[in-house]
Amino acid sequence: MAGGQNIFMTPSFKSLYVHFPFCESKCHYCDFYSLGREKTRDTDPAQFEAALLQECTLHQNSLSAQLDTLFFGGGTPSMTPPSSMERSLAPLKLQQRLTQQTEWTMEANPSSIDAENLTGYRALGVNRISMGVQSLKNSTLQNLGRVHDSQGVMQALETVFKSGFDNVSVDLLCGVPGQDLSDLERELEQLTAFPITHLSCYLLTLAPHHRMHSQLPHEDVQLEHLLLVDEWMVKKGFTHYEISNYCKPGKQARHNLAYWKGHSYLGLGPSAHSFDQVEKKRWKNVSSLHKYGQLLGQGTSPVEWSEVLTPEQLTLEKWMLALRLDDGFPESWLQSKHQRAKAAVFSEKGWIQKHPEKAGTLRLTARGFALSDQIVRALI
Ligand code: SF4
Repeated sequence: MAGGQNIFMTPSFKSLYVHFPFCESKCHYCDFYSLGREKTRDTDPAQFEAALLQECTLHQNSLSAQLDTLFFGGGTPSMTPPSSMERSLAPLKLQQRLTQQTEWTMEANPSSIDAENLTGYRALGVNRISMGVQSLKNSTLQNLGRVHDSQGVMQALETVFKSGFDNVSVDLLCGVPGQDLSDLERELEQLTAFPITHLSCYLLTLAPHHRMHSQLPHEDVQLEHLLLVDEWMVKKGFTHYEISNYCKPGKQARHNLAYWKGHSYLGLGPSAHSFDQVEKKRWKNVSSLHKYGQLLGQGTSPVEWSEVLTPEQLTLEKWMLALRLDDGFPESWLQSKHQRAKAAVFSEKGWIQKHPEKAGTLRLTARGFALSDQIVRALI
């Protein structure tokens, strides 16, 4: 790394992602690059801090003067004290790049919520918390390998709101073995009793060889789960603005919107992805904390691979991104006879509808969101 020189041709990223790879324990269903304590016994968090500091130095000229969004994800960023974050991120001079509008989200898990640390994160500039709840049923939480129980969730959410955060998202899973519709309804009721502004609800997906795969509910039941969540959240005044995401008015996850709209973002930390909208280029850091530290220690970039998207990849991404948002897509994109015929069938089934506010635009319905994989496959 040459004295903090920017290695990429297009600086001025307005969105920044930082990956914190530590977790209390590895959940049984997790595909993210994260290391439970059992794996990190020999890894000094100070080594990660030092490596991240080096990567931030490498990118000290990569960010825009004003940032739109920051997202600290993982892993469990709430296990890293704010003082450590401040030291490793210092070269980026984040405080100078924040505006009144900047959205700065930090993921947190109930088991690592600490009131003093929350005050420290707020002092850094974090103004949005995304809490990994996943379930409020203790047997399900245990089955999933989560380290918290439902009481821990309640206490953690109370602490977060008491600490002054008023933009709080929660992550919930549905379609989990052992979870029925009444469990799901109770979970939604308990979560929406808090003044949350956003909910992400994902269907549990597992690789075919996973020990719990055979216990996953039938796809008809999964559909019922997804439709129940839609009905409940809309009734509570949330907008279903993306396949798996609901928000109070104006509270979309703006960082994720940057991903879904194909904007540029810079990702730092092991396994982090980046995208440059101008060059149509994406790249990924190595998914190994050890290698990440080693490469940066040698003054080498931790990027594992990069690619410039082909026109075919760009078309596919355009469709995937447009279909996942309630903004929808222009009818004029349906160019072939096959596409128009498929769209007519989906419209008859109630999976696609004309956008109520945007003439000449189509969008998926709640049922369409639940079946979006099928729709994407058929239309592209
Ligand atoms: S807390 Fe999140 S990132 Fe960590 S192991 Fe569990 S699912 Fe993965």
